[in-house]
Amino acid sequence: MTITPEILKQIEEQRNSPQTSLRETSPGMEKNLYTLFPILDHGFIRIVDYMGNDSSVVQAARVSYGKGTKKARSDEGLIRYLMRHKHTTPFEMCEIKLHVKLPIFVARQWIRHRTASVNEYSARYSKLEDEFYIPEFENLSAQSGVNRQGRGEILPREEGMRVRDILMHDSQATYENYEKMLSQENQEGLSRELARINLPTNVYTQWYWKVNLLNLLKFIHLRIDPHAQYEIRVYAEKLAEIVADWVPMTHQAFVDYWLEGISLSMQQMELLKRKMNGEEITFETAGLSKREWNEFMQALDMEIP
Ligand SMILES: Cc1cc2nc3c(=O)[nH]c(=O)nc-3n(C[C@H](O)[C@H](O)[C@H](O)COP(=O)(O)OP(=O)(O)OC[C@H]3O[C@@H](n4cnc5c(N)ncnc54)[C@H](O)[C@@H]3O)c2cc1C
Repeated sequence: MTITPEILKQIEEQRNSPQTSLRETSPGMEKNLYTLFPILDHGFIRIVDYMGNDSSVVQAARVSYGKGTKKARSDEGLIRYLMRHKHTTPFEMCEIKLHVKLPIFVARQWIRHRTASVNEYSARYSKLEDEFYIPEFENLSAQSGVNRQGRGEILPREEGMRVRDILMHDSQATYENYEKMLSQENQEGLSRELARINLPTNVYTQWYWKVNLLNLLKFIHLRIDPHAQYEIRVYAEKLAEIVADWVPMTHQAFVDYWLEGISLSMQQMELLKRKMNGEEITFETAGLSKREWNEFMQALDMEIP
């Protein structure tokens, strides 16, 4: 589905036809509801629906009959306590339903997050659009020499052009063959479910994805990390912004205790205590593996000796 002016008009119409409800809403989410946020070259995230807000978390935690909220400060304190102590079920009381358009290779990583409900566009039933992800020059990097799952330096411009040409050429060629297989001089050709098997994984798919707030936070936590692939990270970054608007107190607690907080092993805690007592700690005296030592230094924002 290409984003046409008609689609944008439909979204605008939806946004201009407010409904009344007795339910709790979130001002930040109302601002974003139905809006389509472009991601990558043809992808997007669109918020279809949501349930709950920060007060729903508090309400569930207090198992109250009414709103359950008290003063904003006390609600915030409770949310931070829940997040800090991993008392997570109250965060499952909020839900979000998204319409996501993403390249198949991103979808393959995304679908590994099993705790969500998914309904994908059927390429058996409908024809796929001629839309392929082609990375921008600044995202065409060489294989990392240190991380087998990662990227290194950006390719020189000339090499980047060569790679983009190959990607564009192959995408176009396979799409032309896809169309050729589907029809033969106005006759019905191969079934869509078979014709699609020749398409590359940079072709775009779409799905509806419904998830509760807790599992959304888990998704963001894993996929916003610099170790995650850029092409899924950009979706996670947009989702983090959406969460910040939707449930600002929960988002702040999430950032403070999960995203930017660290968890230390017993041995690392011991080293930290020794260091605070003035002892000089080095890799040789720490008793950690090289990898764990490096991760420890990085976590503490200290230079790796
Ligand atoms: C940087 C990165 C690199 C990765 N590399 C690879 C790779 O090379 N190969 C690969 O196969 N995958 C890889 N993955 C995927 C990863 O192993 C997870 O499958 C994925 O991140 C989903 O995480 P999850 O299981 O916590 O999420 P969800 O499936 O959403 O689960 C959320 C939580 O629910 C619980 N849960 C869900 N299902 C079960 C279950 N069946 N049993 C017990 N508890 C369950 C767990 O507590 C889990 O943390 C990678 C992920 C990242 C972020």
